[in-house]
Amino acid sequence: MAGTKPTDIDQRPDENMKQPLELTVMMYHYVRDSGDSAEAGSNIPGLSVLDFTTQLDELSRQHTLVAWPDVRAALEENKSLPRSACLLTFDDGVCDHYLNVFRILRERNLSGLFFSMARTGSKGLTLPHKIHFLLAQLGVDDLPNTIWGKLDVTQQQKFTQAEQHYRQKYSAATPDRRINLLKAVLQRDLSPEVDSVLSNLFEEHVGSEMETAQRYYLSLEQIREMASNGMHFGGHSYSHPWFDWIDPDSLNSEISASAEWLCQIEPRPWAFAYPYGGLNPDAPKTFHAHRFVAAFTTQTQINHFDPYFIGRLDGEEIAQARQGDD
Ligand SMILES: [Zn+2]
Repeated sequence: MAGTKPTDIDQRPDENMKQPLELTVMMYHYVRDSGDSAEAGSNIPGLSVLDFTTQLDELSRQHTLVAWPDVRAALEENKSLPRSACLLTFDDGVCDHYLNVFRILRERNLSGLFFSMARTGSKGLTLPHKIHFLLAQLGVDDLPNTIWGKLDVTQQQKFTQAEQHYRQKYSAATPDRRINLLKAVLQRDLSPEVDSVLSNLFEEHVGSEMETAQRYYLSLEQIREMASNGMHFGGHSYSHPWFDWIDPDSLNSEISASAEWLCQIEPRPWAFAYPYGGLNPDAPKTFHAHRFVAAFTTQTQINHFDPYFIGRLDGEEIAQARQGDD
């Protein structure tokens, strides 16, 4: 398909910026209230609509909110951004972005950059979303045991080894420790093996994965409506893997799937957000080859020195810290 082939330049030029780009980029995932149609009885919490709008009020007072084409022009044509520029970004292509975010941004005449997976709900849920649902349903006490019972001996050994490895990494006694440990094992070492195990558990404990995925992810119609009303879209891979875990061929096919998918939605060149914020030193040249001119991380940073490592601030974390202060 046109536009999905890598260009003949396989080495990107020296992209380090002479002048660092000063830009506050906000990152959001779920924006939902308990019981609303985005949350849809999933028990998966997110940033409340009130906290989101309060944060938008504050950001609008402190910053000039810009859209993706402004940032693209700053990167591509060296055009300057307004002082204290701020870009709003939303990851994972979940229905919250149509049901809650789009409505609010449109009312305020603002734009967002939405990083969606290169797929619709007909392909089922990605691994992290299956884990979110199952954790909400079974809890962190029962989910590991339930998964364990479905693994064969070799897979159980792999699970134990991976768990020991991550135990050192997540040694601090934080409330999320056990969840982070479990997620690390499932999303990296065991990801090929548990994908179908989690789909079976989903059917057993939650319901139809296909129906859930179609409700949960933005549909192409919703995306088109958003795009024709000032919203912009970027890539976020096909299957949401850790980029520091997958091999070079998978890295290329994950990024190329996003390029192919974006051809039908957003004018080139595009932006990308690293799934889970996982970095890979080979990613930039692959982005460049597929006409992505920027990639966004989850590292807290407002001065950026490389267009393929643009840091972001987590809106939900900021809102939680604010509440902790009150
Ligand atoms: Zn993501």
